[in-house]
Amino acid sequence: MRDQLKRLEELQKFDAQIQELSNALKAIPAKLQASQNDLARVEALLETERTQLTETQRYYGEQKGQLQTEEATVSGAKHKLSLAKNSKEYVAAQREIEQTRESAQAREAEVAKLVEAIQAKEKLLADRADELKGLRSSIEKDGEVARVKMAEVQGKIDALQTARDKIAAGIRPDYLKRYGAIRMRRGMAVATVRNGTCLGCNMNVPPQLFNTLQRGNTLETCPYCHRIVYWEDLMKDQGASSTSSAE
Ligand SMILES: [Zn+2]
Repeated sequence: MRDQLKRLEELQKFDAQIQELSNALKAIPAKLQASQNDLARVEALLETERTQLTETQRYYGEQKGQLQTEEATVSGAKHKLSLAKNSKEYVAAQREIEQTRESAQAREAEVAKLVEAIQAKEKLLADRADELKGLRSSIEKDGEVARVKMAEVQGKIDALQTARDKIAAGIRPDYLKRYGAIRMRRGMAVATVRNGTCLGCNMNVPPQLFNTLQRGNTLETCPYCHRIVYWEDLMKDQGASSTSSAE
């Protein structure tokens, strides 16, 4: 029985380590995914800005076209002015020149502003593209590091699993089944009883159970937390190096 308990205790230590490493393994891709999400956000932002630039360029083209039309109108009116046969025609041409000129001047200012806006946006987009390039390569590097790390952790898990299975092979199948069922519910399936107290739940076990545990002939469970329990000193008697603390 002592041997069985010792194996169960050892099995628990291995299972805890395997669990911890498995959790660490699962956390690695989650972290990478967060970086990928950041990248996608920056890419979407850049795309929006590109669309804005395209729209500004389209508007610029439109304004530029209208400006050319106005310039053509002015030179046409100037020609009319030179051919004016009377003061009525002269005044009409003069008015057309003035009005169109006014409108063209306002448009010219607008076009100049658009040119500035386009240049600023192009510069911004170039900077953003550089940042994105840096971000992409850093994510790629992180991915590489993560892959190496994951392989390393998986290797450790495999080694622990092999050692664990070896221990499990020496445990009675019905004990192993009980251990597994308790572990599923409680996380920790084996607990030490120290000075009559179950260290799994910190409750005092009934005196009768404590007596049974001191004899150490049967596999017992705590009536409160239902973990497999053993008396701490029972293991000490063996003079084994294995500690009896319930982790
Ligand atoms: Zn208990």
